[in-house]
Amino acid sequence: MPLSCDGLSTTLAKVAKDPLTEPRGPDVVHSIRIPAAWLISGETIELELPRQLNCAHCQGGGCDQCQRAGALRLRQQDEPPETVRVSLPDTRGLDESQADKPLLVRIPHAGGHAATENLPRGVLMLQISRAADADLAVRLVPSDAERELRAPREVVVRSMVLGGLLVLVFLWMLYLSGWL
Ligand SMILES: [Zn+2]
Repeated sequence: MPLSCDGLSTTLAKVAKDPLTEPRGPDVVHSIRIPAAWLISGETIELELPRQLNCAHCQGGGCDQCQRAGALRLRQQDEPPETVRVSLPDTRGLDESQADKPLLVRIPHAGGHAATENLPRGVLMLQISRAADADLAVRLVPSDAERELRAPREVVVRSMVLGGLLVLVFLWMLYLSGWL
């Protein structure tokens, strides 16, 4: 059955394909600023994408990929903002000459929508530069370790409140029964 065999190999090839070489929607570029410390500890950030981003192919000049617009619309006006989660690279290993250059992180399937429906979205080329403060659209996602530390504290507070309430109820019952 040559037909089904062909079908199978195409599917396998699609799965194994690199997101940077597979057919997809147009790529977009975006720049954000974050504190340098976030890059040292390899944090995870969440950023809100603007509705429209520059075309990566022409850098805003206009080309066939963006229909000469220079920019690509990621969503319609009435659609809610889209957030993307990015694990920041740990830059401690970089030598000093690289330390001030913006970092480029490629995020597959977060770029422009393909004109053909069953193709994935393009790649979002995210340029990250270091600044004193993070951009408003960028926030830090607490790591798993921090979340675990926070949970027991909530449990302790909750049980203290419950314990206090029980003591009050006990005193109230003593009062009602005439012991106080
Ligand atoms: Zn373009």
